[in-house]
Amino acid sequence: MANRVILAAGECLFRQGEDGKDGFIIVHGKVRITAVRHGEEKEIGVLGPGEMVGELAIIDGGPRTATATAIELTELSQVTDGQLAERIAKADPVVSLLIRQVIRHLRREIHDFALPLEQQPNPTMERMRLEGELAWAVDRQELELWYQPIVDLESHTVAGFEGLVRWRHPTRGLVSPAEFIPLAEESGLIVPIGTWVMQEGARALKHIDDTLADGQSRFMSVNVSGLQLDATGFLEEAQQAVHSANIAPERFHLEMTEGILIQSLRARETVIACENYGFGLFLDDFGTGYSSLAYLNELPFDALKIDHSFARKLDDDGHGLKLIRAIVGLATTLGHGVVMEGVESARQRDVFRAMGGRLAQGYLFSKPRPMPDLLQLMRSTHTLPWGAPIERRMPSMFPV
Ligand code: C2E
Ligand code: CA
Ligand code: CA
Repeated sequence: MANRVILAAGECLFRQGEDGKDGFIIVHGKVRITAVRHGEEKEIGVLGPGEMVGELAIIDGGPRTATATAIELTELSQVTDGQLAERIAKADPVVSLLIRQVIRHLRREIHDFALPLEQQPNPTMERMRLEGELAWAVDRQELELWYQPIVDLESHTVAGFEGLVRWRHPTRGLVSPAEFIPLAEESGLIVPIGTWVMQEGARALKHIDDTLADGQSRFMSVNVSGLQLDATGFLEEAQQAVHSANIAPERFHLEMTEGILIQSLRARETVIACENYGFGLFLDDFGTGYSSLAYLNELPFDALKIDHSFARKLDDDGHGLKLIRAIVGLATTLGHGVVMEGVESARQRDVFRAMGGRLAQGYLFSKPRPMPDLLQLMRSTHTLPWGAPIERRMPSMFPV
């Protein structure tokens, strides 16, 4: 509820130079605005019902730039900085930025005084800044794709890789996708970023083939967001990526979560078109979120990736373990493979293998690595003897 302020004729509402936080809307009456400029007091104007007084301070908390005095009996409705902050916070960030910027210029015009645009760190502005920088990241070649091996526990070989994007920010250093992918999804930037990831991933697989020249057929798996599958031209972009890199679509896998497929019919249609073209499909983060199982029969996934939060459950004999066993059984019966994510210990690997699981990914085998590190790892060992994870044989290569 806004406070009412009643002023008699000649009464002062606020004086120039005072600290001010509140603004006022004139309900009845008139207010004279005066200001001292170059040592001389001048009338700036007279405001009447429906107009606002003291709006500069309310927006940026700076000192009053003028004096306001009632000319006659005047009633005002007070607007606090809190009420305004709430409204600005709800406004579009661009509108909010515009208001602050205009106020800043206005203050500078009035008496060469400008508060810093942001006196305190503002999360909205911070996000906008990061979003702006992210928009440039692809063009400035600040994105990198790192690769994590996915290991075949039966043949003891590296079956393929998951491409995981990283942002090498000019001042922040390496930014994790957990931080910028949600921002990219909200802003739509995930579409051009995802296109780059597909091109880079396909190119990387060809580069691995050519460099290792060992005749092995490995796959590259990239993460795909719902927005990408909803956008026009996704299939063509994926085709273009494998075509330019000269790799078979069967060796290029698209990872998506079930939530994406539930939310959008168009996404499901795109996925079916991708499958028809020959791309591999991985159902990511299985066991979290929806897990409605509805799409397991409908879409021919090559494999379900059991979310890494489940890996810990392989360590005990509780319900978690039974659940993983059930998922492996279900997937196998329906003709899908299973990838166990987040395998960090030999025990987790062995328990998963014993229940019939074949593909595994996790720090036990390797963390995601940039291409030169990956090639170094792959050159040192093309096969993984049973019970000997890559790490154990290459301790020097692991980040401390
Ligand atoms: P995700 O698809 O589930 O990727 C697996 C994440 O688990 C990766 O984190 C990986 O580094 C991490 N991880 C792998 N092995 C282990 C392990 O043994 N233990 C633990 N604790 N973690 C492990 P990362 O690289 O930070 O990626 C996080 C998420 O960001 C990904 O989760 C994916 O959802 C998203 N993301 C990454 N790259 C892309 C991309 O190119 N496009 C899209 N749309 N999303 C991406
Ligand atoms: Ca993934
Ligand atoms: Ca995952």
